[in-house]
Amino acid sequence: RAKAAGGNRFERADPEADARAITRHGLTNALPAALERGEFFIEYQPLVHLGDGSVHGAEALVRWSHPQHGVLGPDRFIPLAEHTGLIVPLGRWVMAESVRQARFWQERHPGSRAGGPLRVNVNLSPTQLHHPGLVADTVEVLERSGLEPGALCLEVTESALIGADDDLLKPLRQLADMGVDIALDDFGTGYSNLANLRRLPVSVLKLDRSFTQSMQQHPADPVDIKIVEGIVSLAHSLHLAVTVEGVETGAQAEQLRELGCDTAQGWYYARPGAPDRIHSLALTDAV
Ligand code: C2E
Ligand code: MG
Ligand code: MG
Ligand code: MG
Repeated sequence: RAKAAGGNRFERADPEADARAITRHGLTNALPAALERGEFFIEYQPLVHLGDGSVHGAEALVRWSHPQHGVLGPDRFIPLAEHTGLIVPLGRWVMAESVRQARFWQERHPGSRAGGPLRVNVNLSPTQLHHPGLVADTVEVLERSGLEPGALCLEVTESALIGADDDLLKPLRQLADMGVDIALDDFGTGYSNLANLRRLPVSVLKLDRSFTQSMQQHPADPVDIKIVEGIVSLAHSLHLAVTVEGVETGAQAEQLRELGCDTAQGWYYARPGAPDRIHSLALTDAV
């Protein structure tokens, strides 16, 4: 793609951009066979109570073990899968696998120290949200595994629900009525109308990592502190729990705990890892 720029009408395209486009193209084409060959795997990152650090569940994060490029993170391929629609079967696999895993944790370890059975969070992309099979697929996966719906939390980004009409909210409402938790992921970045929260069938707000990052400075940005305080107080008055993501230091955890956040996730507690580690962390609570 040569673009006209100033006097040089046939300026050469950016070769790095071309290389990236070629890789994207190659990765996109390789996705369906990769799913069939089982090249995707899931890492689980513990979710802990901010009060005492006890593990009560984990978020499922998909990775692609690519034969040439090594392990690729979701930011490299989820947008591509989203674009081609492969996210629907891929997302179905992630959900089935995560739910099966959560049931397995529960069988080996029925209660976390925090009380209650271990739970699992699964990310849903906008295309999955619009897919007519979402509710039926979820019901089937839960029934097949024997996991109670209350042990599954589906994470939807705030931006995916901005301006959502009733057609889009209906499947989420059905899932919420069954007892599945819905979390608003990356909350605070999407400029959503806060009053709108009342309309959404969500029970958890996951505060975006940018807020956690700003708690790292000493002292933290007073405006961000006010925003977090405001979000926490609004969330609690609507009976929503607040989770913080991206906690990397004890100072951040302490600050966010003082501000009233309920649960947390981040490298300070544990990086995403193999499924068995969740089970042993919950057993020993060695975080
Ligand atoms: P997310 O749902 O907001 O997930 C949190 C991301 O933050 C994960 O990145 C996680 O590894 C990373 N993270 C956790 N703790 C820390 C920390 O302390 N510091 C820093 N710097 N990062 C931390 P990851 O695994 O690369 O996933 C990126 C995004 O990809 C996710 O963001 C989610 O939106 C999407 N994603 C992951 N798995 C799936 C999936 O199965 N389906 C769909 N549709 N999206 C997925
Ligand atoms: Mg998430
Ligand atoms: Mg998030
Ligand atoms: Mg995020």
